[in-house]
Formats: sequence, C-alpha cells, structure tokens
Amino acid sequence: MAACIFCKIIKGEIPSMKLFESEKTLAFLDIGPLSYGHSLIIPKYHGAKLTDIPDDQLSEIMTVTKKIASASGAENYNILQNNGRAAHQEVDHVHFHMIPKPNAEEGLVIGWPAK
Ligand code: 5GP
Repeated sequence: MAACIFCKIIKGEIPSMKLFESEKTLAFLDIGPLSYGHSLIIPKYHGAKLTDIPDDQLSEIMTVTKKIASASGAENYNILQNNGRAAHQEVDHVHFHMIPKPNAEEGLVIGWPAK
C-alpha cells in the first residue's frame, strides 16, 4: 500500500535498522524503543490487522519472532501485537513487538546489539 510506513520500509524508501529479512518477513528496530533492543517483526504482505493476513503469509512470523528474541539475549521480554485504535495500534500494517525487559539485577538489557 503506497502510503503505509511499513510498506515503505519494506521497499527501502524509508531507512530502518534491519535485523532479518526473507521473502515473507522483515524484522527491524523500533524507531521509538520502549527498551533497548525493541524490535518489530512484520509480514511483507500488507494488512492492517492479524485477521487480514492470509495464513501462508504468516507461516514464518513466530519462528522469526523467536529468532529475534533469542538474538536479543534478553532473559525477559514481551511479545505484543495490537489490532485497532482501541487496542493502541498506531501503524496499520500488522507487526509483532519484541520488547526486552531490563535485567532485574542490573537494570539493563544486556547483549543486544553486542557492545
Ligand atoms: P503500534 O502502536 O501500532 O502497535 O506500534 C507501532 C510502532 O511502530 C511504534 O512502536 C513506533 O515506534 C513504531 N514506528 C512508527 N513509525 C516507525 C518508523 O518509521 N520506523 C520504525 N523503525 N518504527 C516506527
């Protein structure tokens, strides 16, 4: 979709810090991170809500989300996916947030990216 920010990121028309890319899926760092390493994992197929995306376009999304969570090194993290304004969705292209939580002892998310 021409006006969609995430479609523009997929096409490379808007820059992003890409973490993973395949034919169906893209992962990149969130521009307004809630914590260090906050990432977004999206299907390349454009649809606003999870229920708008054909099953075959979502086949990788959980395994890629798992890879991103694993690569972050975070021991604690949230996976979040909002659908609709009342559910706090701002960008109308399906995306999964991977949000590392600060390490309870050190108050820091460690290991992502490597320092
Ligand atoms: P939502 O509230 O829709 O679930 O989350 C949208 C997310 O997209 C927000 O966390 C926001 O920071 C992120 N975001 C919005 N515009 C851009 C952008 O142009 N680039 C990147 N990397 N993230 C964006």
